[in-house]
Amino acid sequence: MSTPEEIKAASRHLRGTIHDELVNGTNEFGHDSIVLLKFHGIYQQDDRDQRKARASKRLPLAYSCMVRAAVPGGVISPEQWAALDKVADLADGSLRLTTRQGVQFHVVTKDSLHELVNGINASLLTTLAACGDVVRNTMACPAPLPDGRQAILQPALADIVTRFRPHTTSYWEIWVDGEKAVSAEPPSVETEPVYGDTYLPRKFKIGLAWPGDNCIDVYTHDVGVVPTLRHGSTGELTGWNVLVGGGLGMSHAREEDTYPRLASPLGWVTPEKLTDVIQAVITVQRDYGNRTDRARARLKYLIDTEGLAWFRGQVEERLGYALHDPTELLPWNNTDDHHGWFLNDAGSWALGVPVPSGRVRDTDGGQYRSALRELMSSGLVQEMRVTPRQDVILNGISASARGEVERVLRHHSIALAQDTTAFARLAIACPALPTCGQALGEAERVMPQLIEGIDKVMAVAGVGDSAIRMNVTGCPNGCSRPYTAEIGIVGRGKTTYDVYLGGAAGGERLGVRVRADVALGDLPNLLAPVLSEFEAGRTDGETFGDFCHRVGSETITTWLPAPVLRRRAKQMEDSLT
Ligand code: SF4
Repeated sequence: MSTPEEIKAASRHLRGTIHDELVNGTNEFGHDSIVLLKFHGIYQQDDRDQRKARASKRLPLAYSCMVRAAVPGGVISPEQWAALDKVADLADGSLRLTTRQGVQFHVVTKDSLHELVNGINASLLTTLAACGDVVRNTMACPAPLPDGRQAILQPALADIVTRFRPHTTSYWEIWVDGEKAVSAEPPSVETEPVYGDTYLPRKFKIGLAWPGDNCIDVYTHDVGVVPTLRHGSTGELTGWNVLVGGGLGMSHAREEDTYPRLASPLGWVTPEKLTDVIQAVITVQRDYGNRTDRARARLKYLIDTEGLAWFRGQVEERLGYALHDPTELLPWNNTDDHHGWFLNDAGSWALGVPVPSGRVRDTDGGQYRSALRELMSSGLVQEMRVTPRQDVILNGISASARGEVERVLRHHSIALAQDTTAFARLAIACPALPTCGQALGEAERVMPQLIEGIDKVMAVAGVGDSAIRMNVTGCPNGCSRPYTAEIGIVGRGKTTYDVYLGGAAGGERLGVRVRADVALGDLPNLLAPVLSEFEAGRTDGETFGDFCHRVGSETITTWLPAPVLRRRAKQMEDSLT
């Protein structure tokens, strides 16, 4: 058993000593509580920009917490947004929309933590299970399009959320009703029927895509599901294709046995059986997943170790019946980015608004927080939906209110979809430095500079209007899904990155690493010759990712400028050849 497993087992269903430490007057939590807090949606972090200066003065680290609210399918009511906006003042004044459709708060000091989590709960959202070794925030295509997808996806999403939310009452005792937390014993009736006392070996991600629309990156989930419809892309629901074993995290130090993996088709099930099948998948992972080595604890490694046939047999044994073979999925349409105006499923309008790196705050470049506060409280917008690319869809706008909604956004200097290049509005990044403890380098903070540089070389190459998807992360854990992007940029050192090309715009193919350890400032020039070759050699309608995949990484490597042979870069180049 790894240490986190021992901590979970001894925690009395995630209680540990969190309640006592919350009120002990220090700025930080102890090691065991840090492990358990993740299940409550909280990561203890420190300001890494200050580490050196504080160390030289022998000061302790500048501790704070990141708090994540789970938002199933990204759907947020005006009342919920008002509550989230209010508690942002207990953090750094921003709300960060995540790549899993949640909302994060950064730089929450320990003495503000209870009030912030309590405030989120008062809005009928929760931070429970937004992190930790449980089913995380479940994703679903958020677009309220007239094809009726929400009427099919939302009920299934609700079933999944209800079935797999932890049963422990520790969360409410600690964050909602503090009186009960002083008891040393869990209530005698409390059980975790799906998870058991030690929960899962690792985080577990579920996503619901729509036929032809893979905005949620369905292949990157532990369980990805896609409905089948009577007439292909239309008609009533006939069942679900279930994919298993996706996951992107890897470790630079363990490239021989950690890796990104796309989910594999497991089977097809009728509508009423979907949640039971997902539960069977979860319990196989619960019982057989690796609990000694967390780097290999995700479901993908269990499936690769034991084989998909073995895994399917285990699932069927638990179900007591055989699964149907999976059916063929429709090709993924890669053109709808859910930006701009579109008619919704209720006969009113929706507007997809890009939010750079999902950061909702007020700056000279755009007052996103003020604009969304005004619109969500105005009665002009019925709900907000967070997209998997960290943007928002403002939904339920009458035809007569469209002009006023645009006016409010423009008044707050918000760039709408048509105001930026497709490349800029589709690029996403994880938070990375200075808060994420895993970050090896920058991501969100360097995005403006990176986008500007690549936008320029795209224009020079003659492909400035191409909708190329670039995902950037500060470390190989891959929170912003760089390995399925057409351009994946993965932090390797403080200022250097690995570059992956050839992922599919529809998310069904992994990119291939073409260069390691590239300095941030060299990234645009590294891509320039590939973009020029794309312009010269692309076939009709071919995407950048498909082009890179077609010509292959060996050919691409011959187009790249000579590497800057720093010592580590040379080692990496050698390892790639
Ligand atoms: Fe942190 Fe790495 Fe995730 Fe970025 S990808 S948020 S650096 S863990």
